[in-house]
Amino acid sequence: MGETRAIDFNRAAKYFLLVDFIKGFGLGLRYFFAPKSTLNYPHEKGPLSPRFRGEHALRRYPNGEERCIACKLCEAICPAQAITIDAEPREDGSRRTTRYDIDMTKCIYCGFCQEACPVDAIVEGPNFEFSTETREELYYDKAKLLDNGARWEAEIARNLEIDAPYR
Ligand code: SF4
Ligand code: SF4
Repeated sequence: MGETRAIDFNRAAKYFLLVDFIKGFGLGLRYFFAPKSTLNYPHEKGPLSPRFRGEHALRRYPNGEERCIACKLCEAICPAQAITIDAEPREDGSRRTTRYDIDMTKCIYCGFCQEACPVDAIVEGPNFEFSTETREELYYDKAKLLDNGARWEAEIARNLEIDAPYR
């Protein structure tokens, strides 16, 4: 009987002294000032691995010449059959693509095309913000891929250099 009264008294004291409220408020304050684990995207972005497989790009050499030699290894290895290449010899005898399309709606971002390429021409760059409103916009042609290459060349070259010792 006496023990029950003591329990009731403790409970009442906690109730009137707002113990649970103060504990909860303290917890809230602690997390308010703690470092945040969330990011305010798109204003803040997290780090990306140099091996991140994002939007595709076709690269050029520093002198402006296309790297791609139209060997079609990327087309052959693509498990989604997303790449379509046509090629012809140029007047100087070198072989270059006349058409290089990637159907990004088919692509599964496996990175095989990049791995197969002997001249680091087709790569998956660091860009992951390329959503579109229509499917047609995700049918990339050679001009679009070369534009991507020009736009992201600095980041792509840096990532390839970092990853080179492990390839
Ligand atoms: S990442 Fe894979 S699926 Fe996409 S184009 Fe390259 S090889 Fe094909
Ligand atoms: S992108 Fe690379 S693998 Fe594909 S056709 Fe050109 S050189 Fe060959």
